[in-house]
Parts: sequence; structure tokens; C-alpha cells
Amino acid sequence: MKLRIVKRLLEANERIAEENRRLLRENGVFTINLMSAPGAGKTSLLVRTIEALMDKVSIGVIEGDITGTDDAERIDALGVPVVQLNTEGACHLDAGMIREALEDIPLGGIELLFIENVGNLVCPAEFNVGEDVKAMVLSVTEGDDKPLKYPLMFKESGVLVINKTDLLPHTDVDMDKIRRSALSINPGLRIFEVSCRTGTGLTEWTDYLGALSVGTGMY
Ligand code: MG
Ligand code: ZN
Repeated sequence: MKLRIVKRLLEANERIAEENRRLLRENGVFTINLMSAPGAGKTSLLVRTIEALMDKVSIGVIEGDITGTDDAERIDALGVPVVQLNTEGACHLDAGMIREALEDIPLGGIELLFIENVGNLVCPAEFNVGEDVKAMVLSVTEGDDKPLKYPLMFKESGVLVINKTDLLPHTDVDMDKIRRSALSINPGLRIFEVSCRTGTGLTEWTDYLGALSVGTGMY
């Protein structure tokens, strides 16, 4: 009985996600659903990314958090359109929440839309919101066992950004193990290694995004 309810919920979500996707495509917006555990560095990555690309690409952001506006304020300070979504306890974003947020984003003037999901390694991966691609951030401090322990997010994502590589010397984390196990779950996964603190590796990531926004629809 419980399974049946969840299935119906996911089907309803999928219909709204399709509507969102159609609206975004009509407006020529490429949308990235950014997911990670709390503290992996989604907002820091967004700030760095916007700083690098905002002169070339028009960017908008939807910030998902359980409560508060801290992350949206960091984005707002950069001068790009941002909407803060507070889920009031829900541990992921769903397509209905994004449909509401899209009413407050000037879609016609945006080429690249980032949706920062609620920090959570589990259920954000279960809910499509109308994105073109899901991108996952994993901090090296989370450990190299995460791909095999939380495979769904790695499976659903097109891109994996491994962050905080500057901290590697202070951990026992095996970067090759992260790559190997993530690719065993999702052989097509595109992997970037970055440090948002030092800036290492960010050019590869922003070059990749810059190429996306020329409207190829490929990732
Ligand atoms: Mg954040
Ligand atoms: Zn959830």
C-alpha cells in the first residue's frame, strides 16, 4: 500500500517535471540540478562558477534549503537573478516547487539555470524537476566509500564534481577509488576534480559549462 502511494507521487512529479522542462526549453534555458550532501560545497561552487561565467553567459539560480536565505544572499551579492525556495522541512526539491519558483525567474533573459537542491545524498536523486542534467558535488572529506553506499545519486547524475581536493593530503581518501566506484555505477559519468577554495580545476568545469550554454543541448 505504501509503495503504491510513493509510486503515484513520483508519477505526478514526473508530469510536472515534463511541463517545467518544456517551459525551460521554450525559453532556451539549459538547467542543471545541483545535488550533494550538506556541506560538500554546492553554493561555493556556484559562486565560483558565476564569477567565472557571468560576463559570457546569463545565469539564474534557484536556491533550495529547508529554511533560511543564507545561500541566496551569497548569490544575490553577485547580481544574478536568484529565488530562494524554503521547503519547510522537506529534504529534497520536487517539480511542483520548481514550477512555482520559475514564475519568479526572468526566463527569457537566462541561458543557464542552476537549481541548488537541498543538501541530502539520498532523495533529491529520486525527483526530476525538469532539469537537462543532474550534477553532483562530492567533497573528498565525505570519504571514498560514498559511491557504493549511495549509488542512486551517482547513477542519476551526468556530472560529478569532486570538491575540496586541497584537503586530500589531510585525509586517507583514495581518489582513484572514488572514480573507479562512481564509474562502475555510471560509466558515462563526467568527472571534474576541483577546489573551490584554491580555484584548482575550476577552469575545466567552467569551460564545460560555457560550451553547454551555446545551446547544443548536449552534456
Ligand atoms: Mg548551499
Ligand atoms: Zn527527501
